[in-house]
Amino acid sequence: MKYIPYGRQNINEQDIEAVIEVLRSDWITQGPAIERFERAVAEYCGTKYAVAVSSATAALHIACLAAGLKPKDILWTSPNTFVASANCGLYCKAFVDFVDIDSRTYNISLEKLAEKLKLAKKKGKLPKVLIPVHFAGQSCQMKEIRELTKEYDITIIEDAAHAIGGKYLGQKIGCCAYSDMTVFSFHPVKIITTGEGGMITTNCKDLYEKLMRLRTHGITRNKSQMEGEPHGPWYYQQIELGYNYRITDIQAALGLSQLKRIDEFIKRRHELANRYNNALKDLPLILPWQHPDIYSAYHLYVIQLDTQKTTKTRRYVFEELRKRDIGVNVHYIPVHTQPYYKKLGFKEGDFPAAEEYYSRAITLPLYYDLTEKEQDYVIDVLKKTLL
Ligand SMILES: *Cc1c(COP(=O)(O)O)cnc(C)c1O
Repeated sequence: MKYIPYGRQNINEQDIEAVIEVLRSDWITQGPAIERFERAVAEYCGTKYAVAVSSATAALHIACLAAGLKPKDILWTSPNTFVASANCGLYCKAFVDFVDIDSRTYNISLEKLAEKLKLAKKKGKLPKVLIPVHFAGQSCQMKEIRELTKEYDITIIEDAAHAIGGKYLGQKIGCCAYSDMTVFSFHPVKIITTGEGGMITTNCKDLYEKLMRLRTHGITRNKSQMEGEPHGPWYYQQIELGYNYRITDIQAALGLSQLKRIDEFIKRRHELANRYNNALKDLPLILPWQHPDIYSAYHLYVIQLDTQKTTKTRRYVFEELRKRDIGVNVHYIPVHTQPYYKKLGFKEGDFPAAEEYYSRAITLPLYYDLTEKEQDYVIDVLKKTLL
């Protein structure tokens, strides 16, 4: 059996053709494929606007800037995420803090959010930006989160790096029904890929225009945004400090082609997740619980060792699987326990639910091309390791 990773892309001939077509065209970046990709994602999610960028990390950064996050402002996110969800606050010189997770969904806990908001209000330390992370592809309870934050003027940016194609209360993730912006990642392990790439969706024209400028140096060619009169048709103005966070047409063409198959990708992820659910239900494991309001994109299939029922350690089980060429992984080391964040003042014990979850979690292989034979092998090794 060859090495089985925890996640990987599926590239077909049409994807390859789409990329080749761009390479043979006049535009390999800043051409028509980017706008087509943006329109297609906006339509798919049901938002007015979409802005494609070079990565989800770049997307999170400019989403924070567009939200007006300034030095000494406060950003809250989940500790159970990739470091990028928190680093975007530090890029803006804001203070970052975390809301501990719900032990069933592994997403930020509504109770802890409500509690923390009350305390922050008392201390005059309310966040300017909140970034809920849709862990493993399962949406946070956005309606309740919006309800809890609406009296405080907090901008909500959904980190949906795991979740494009998923649904919440019957609507697509990224529709921004209960948020200001949503961020997607197109890294190869995610649901669809552009190699590297990201996107921000929004329904707000003002945010859209800011994001468009911030991805390209803070430059505008739109007369209505300029000071004074344009000197001529060549004219542009830099009206704020932006970046080069552009995506290429080569990548956008790949993304556009991948998007055609997104529902098929997710359907297969569900089938494989259900196979795991059935095969693993009698083992000393906690399987991923699904909230009834949510249709997950199933980016990850995460199990936890049920430490009441087994004495085997996470490390032992992980190493046994790795020894047999199964590319298990762990998502995530709580961000606040990273040395960089400890230097900012966080310590172990600050967010116990995220730490407890982390101590028992293992991510099993799950991706479109995972065969049932490969999956059965993973299940078999897991059974032998645990029994
Ligand atoms: C992958 C990921 C990111 C960063 O995405 P890139 O496109 O690699 O920059 C951000 N947040 C979460 C939750 C992720 O999983």
